[in-house]
Amino acid sequence: MKLDQEIPEEVRKLRPRKLRPGQDAERLLAHTCGAEGNPNPSRQRRGLRPKADSINAIRCADCGQVEYLTREDCRCGHYLVGQLQDEHLAWEQDLLQTQERLSAAADRRLRPFRLAMLAGLPFVALPLLYVGFSGAASSFDVLLWMFPGLALFGLGGLVEAKVVARSDVVTKTIANATFEQFLNER
Ligand SMILES: [Zn+2]
Repeated sequence: MKLDQEIPEEVRKLRPRKLRPGQDAERLLAHTCGAEGNPNPSRQRRGLRPKADSINAIRCADCGQVEYLTREDCRCGHYLVGQLQDEHLAWEQDLLQTQERLSAAADRRLRPFRLAMLAGLPFVALPLLYVGFSGAASSFDVLLWMFPGLALFGLGGLVEAKVVARSDVVTKTIANATFEQFLNER
């Protein structure tokens, strides 16, 4: 029997669960505090506030109170959706600036090594030219002359790979930056 025949249609349609603190929290609230749209909500529900460090919480920029992330407006009337969008934009901007700063720093750090590699170029090129023009087979002297150039190239390449790897981490973070990640890191 084939594998896809054994698996029911619903299971194959399953997708990885996305982080939606809002919906789960709303469902929980509906269970503990009565159904949605209750005309006479209990005092407990109206007075309920999330913990300040919860992923489901946002601190109102206007009144300073902790409010549920799922609410569009704070209880003081401040527009929380707009505040969250502003925070998200600022977070993205911050990531981009970090990347620019890191790549500029990497360029600065790599400049002397690039110059050293440039300085090593004649050590490799001239012996090769000599071999080419004179027709001499690879003598030990020629290899000795090429050695400093090759060593400079090797060192420069190692340093460059190391510095580039560090700024790659930030570049990857930016490529994977999602709204959910922003909520997590907030
Ligand atoms: Zn408020």
